[in-house]
Amino acid sequence: MELKPTILFGGTFDPVHVGHITIANQLYNTFNTPITFLPTGIPPYKAKPTISSEVRLTMLKLAINGSNCFNIDYTEIKNDKFCYSYKTLTEIRKKVAINTHISFVVGSDSLISLDKWDNWKSLFGLTNFIIVKRPKYDINSVKKELKNELQDRINKSLQEFYQAPYGNVFIVDNNSIDVSSTQIRQYIKKHLAFEHLVPKKVAQYIKKNKLYI
Ligand code: ATP
Repeated sequence: MELKPTILFGGTFDPVHVGHITIANQLYNTFNTPITFLPTGIPPYKAKPTISSEVRLTMLKLAINGSNCFNIDYTEIKNDKFCYSYKTLTEIRKKVAINTHISFVVGSDSLISLDKWDNWKSLFGLTNFIIVKRPKYDINSVKKELKNELQDRINKSLQEFYQAPYGNVFIVDNNSIDVSSTQIRQYIKKHLAFEHLVPKKVAQYIKKNKLYI
């Protein structure tokens, strides 16, 4: 495929943490293309973020810190409402050439409930998936219908993965530490050290603005 691939890393980023950044770096090195963070407005399948979209976005920008390896797509966060991936991807698809290779990054925890997402099967007609393994969330434990949908799409080589603009699945190992935004919010609430789990400027911002306490 000649066109530059687009890799979208969707998430709530409440707050962005070292796990996200390590994965983004790992993906940048693997796919040799900038990674586009896609912060959500209101996630439809999990609790509403505890802080505003604006504050989540500020922290994401601090974490990325002008790096050439990363971009931000504002399609979802500018709308501060429920964000369904098939709608977002349809919107993004309209803006790019028809054969652009688009990938959506999901951790294996999100993958396991993919069959609960609105119009989930239609996603394979809009995007490829890059699945990042997460401890405790075994990809093989997905329900039968999802397993059937995935099995012929999983690619062994990058070359194979790049063959189609959408519909393929590539699995990557996870070189990051096992951390989640939930854990960080809990640590802050309990006055436990959390600074090592987020980028330095994000830690400073959280403390200065007394977030999550
Ligand atoms: P929360 O604890 O609030 O659910 P989170 O840490 O999972 O948050 P999100 O912003 O929801 O963070 O994650 C965005 C994406 O990154 C999701 O696809 C998620 O599976 C993935 N992800 C987050 N942290 C990790 C991690 N440590 N390793 C692998 N994938 C991760």
